[in-house]
Amino acid sequence: MPHLNGIKVVYFDLDDTLCGYWNASKAGLRRAFGEHAPEGVTVEEMVIHWAEAYREFAPQVKTERWYEPYLTSGEPTRTEQMHMALRRAGHDDRTRAEALSRAYMLYRDAELQLFEDAIDVLTALRGRFELGLITNGPADIQRMEIATLGIGQFFDHVFIEGEMREGKPKPGVFARANEAARSRPEETVMVGNSFGHDIAPAIAAGWYGFWIRRDSDVPPSAHPNTKPEDRPADSVPPTATINALSELLPWLID
Ligand SMILES: [Mg+2]
Repeated sequence: MPHLNGIKVVYFDLDDTLCGYWNASKAGLRRAFGEHAPEGVTVEEMVIHWAEAYREFAPQVKTERWYEPYLTSGEPTRTEQMHMALRRAGHDDRTRAEALSRAYMLYRDAELQLFEDAIDVLTALRGRFELGLITNGPADIQRMEIATLGIGQFFDHVFIEGEMREGKPKPGVFARANEAARSRPEETVMVGNSFGHDIAPAIAAGWYGFWIRRDSDVPPSAHPNTKPEDRPADSVPPTATINALSELLPWLID
């Protein structure tokens, strides 16, 4: 296996790279619907309504009406989506949507866990390289995740979409990360689970890109039997595809 020389900084994506966000989301939804689903509607039915509402609403999050509030707080879009799910279930109930939104946020956070090798890998890299996080999502939720997981102390640089007011895959995000670390692109590594958001833009910026793929990486909104994301046929390949964070170490440490 080739060893990378001259690396100065290693950036990680957070959700489904260091921690199991989709697993937490699925468990959080089930707990929230278990408590607050309208009478006569099962948890399974509510999950399906939520998934349909998610697919319908996701393209709107980046529109002018929703993106500004979304950057600061996950609450408005999360509650709107719950309201849409309830309407699909035949219950147009804003108060219940607010209760569901809050329960989902709290239970998802309670269910959030690092992958089993995350702490060992961060500990092994810490001190040898500068470490950073580049994560998309609202500022409040991303900060809460970092605190819940107790990993803030590992990182010299933390870039959050909500705080930068732009997110991956925008090239400006990667330029900003190089600037903060005073690293050249060829001294910089990105580790992420999304080919489109993490790896393709990192490779385009001249970084090394490690694409981490796991079976758990399927959103609750995906159609049944959906497989994890594939790489577009015409894309530049990642430096390597890995299945566990620990597979990074031989590339980076003698
Ligand atoms: Mg991710």
